[in-house]
Amino acid sequence: MAVRDSASRPTTRFALATLALATGLLCNTAQAQTQGAETLHAQIETRAKAVEKQLIAWRRDIHQHPELGNYETRTAKLVADQLRKLGMEVKTGVAKTGVVGVLKGGKPGPVVALRADMDALPVKERVDVPFASKAKGQYLGKEVDVMHACGHDTHVAILMATAEVLAGMKDQLPGTVKFIFQPAEESPADFEPNGSNTWGAKQMVSEGVLDNPKVDAIFGLHVSSGIESGKLGWRSGPSMAAADQFWIDVKGRQTHGARPWGGIDPIVVASQIVMGLQTIQSRQVNAMLEPSVITVGTIHGGNRMNIVPEKVEMMGTVRTYDEGMKKDIHARMKRTTEAIATSAGAEASFRVVELYNATINQPALTEKMAPTLQRVAGEGNWMITPKATASEDFSFYQEKVPGLFFNLGVTPKGQDVTKAPSNHSPEFYVDEPALINGVRALSSLTVDYMVMAQR
Ligand SMILES: [Zn+2]
Ligand SMILES: [Zn+2]
Repeated sequence: MAVRDSASRPTTRFALATLALATGLLCNTAQAQTQGAETLHAQIETRAKAVEKQLIAWRRDIHQHPELGNYETRTAKLVADQLRKLGMEVKTGVAKTGVVGVLKGGKPGPVVALRADMDALPVKERVDVPFASKAKGQYLGKEVDVMHACGHDTHVAILMATAEVLAGMKDQLPGTVKFIFQPAEESPADFEPNGSNTWGAKQMVSEGVLDNPKVDAIFGLHVSSGIESGKLGWRSGPSMAAADQFWIDVKGRQTHGARPWGGIDPIVVASQIVMGLQTIQSRQVNAMLEPSVITVGTIHGGNRMNIVPEKVEMMGTVRTYDEGMKKDIHARMKRTTEAIATSAGAEASFRVVELYNATINQPALTEKMAPTLQRVAGEGNWMITPKATASEDFSFYQEKVPGLFFNLGVTPKGQDVTKAPSNHSPEFYVDEPALINGVRALSSLTVDYMVMAQR
C-alpha cells in the first residue's frame, strides 16, 4: 500500500539507498574483519611455531617438579615471571597460589579468560622419560610421591606459550585476555569434605577472578589419553559430571553371630541399602533425561566372624549432569537409606556433600566457536566427544560466565586409545607434538571470539 503512495516514493528510494549503503558497509566491515582474522590466524601459526621448543621445555621442567593442590609455589613463580616478562599486569597469591595476568589489547573489545590448572597428584610416576618425577609431597598429612598424572603440567606450559603468542600480537588484539593459572583442581592436598578449603576454581571465583575487568567468555582445555595425539574433542551442553560424596552410617544392635535374632544386623541392612541405591538410577529417575551413577566405594563393619556388629559405615560418590536431577537423586538416596533401615528396625543416616558441579559448555558459545576448533584441528582431526563421568572444577567458572572446555588428544598415533593408560595412571603418557595444537586452539578461540564481537 505504501508503494502506491507517491508521497512515500522519495522516502522509499532513500530507504533503499540507505539500505544498500548499509549493506555495503556491513559487507566491507565483514570483509575487513575476515581479512583481519586471517592476518591474526597467520600470526598465530608463525608465533606458535616459534614458541614450540620453549613450550616443551616448560612442560618438561614443570613435569619434573610437580606440586600438590595449593602448594604450587614453584610453578606459580615460573608462570608469574613469564607473564611479567611479557609486560602483563600480574596478580599472585590468588586462591593461595593462583596467578592471574591481564593482557590489554591495542583495540577495545571483550574480555576473554583462558584457564590452566597447575596441581599434580599423589601418584608415583612409572613413565620412562628422562624428566620423570621423583618429587615428594604431603598429602592428607602423609608423605607421598607426586606426579603430573593428569597432565596439568601441559596445561600450564600451553597457557604460558599462548600468553607468549598473544602478547606478541597485542597491539592488534580487539579486546583483553585474562590468563588464569589456578591451583587445586584435583582438590587441596589437605582437603576435607567438610572443611573450609575448597577447589581452586571455586576459590578463585569467590576472590573475584571473573571481575575487574569482567570476563565475557572463558575457555579451557584438558589433555586426554582417550583421544589420538593432536586431535580436538568437545561437546555442547553437559559434558562432564557433577561429583558428590556421600556417607551412610547404619546403626544396628550387636549380638552373637549364631543368634542374629538377638540383635539387629547392620551388615544385612547395609547390603540392602547398597542394592536399593542401585534401583534409583535403573528404576526411579528418567533415564532419557541424563545418565547418572551411584557408587558405594567403601563399606566397613565388624571385626570377627561370629559377632553381628553394632554399626556399618559406607562412603561413595554420585555423578549427575543436571542440577534438578541431582537434588532429586540425593532425596531418593536419603529416603531409600532411611526406609530400608527402618524396615529392619535399624537406624541409618545419609549425608551428602556436593564437590564439583557439572561441566556445561554453553550451547550458544559452543556453536559459535566450533568452526574455530574445526579449523585449528583440520579435517578428520576433531570429534564430538561422549559425556564423561569424570569431573572438572572448570564448572565453577561456567556457572558465572559462558564457557567452553575441550579436550586435546595426547596418545601417540597408532596406539589404541581405549587401552592407553588413562589420566591419573602412573603410566599416563603425553605425546608432546600434540601440545602445540593446544596453543593454536586457545589463541584462535581468543582472537575469533574478539573479532566476532566486533560485528
Ligand atoms: Zn585429574
Ligand atoms: Zn585434570
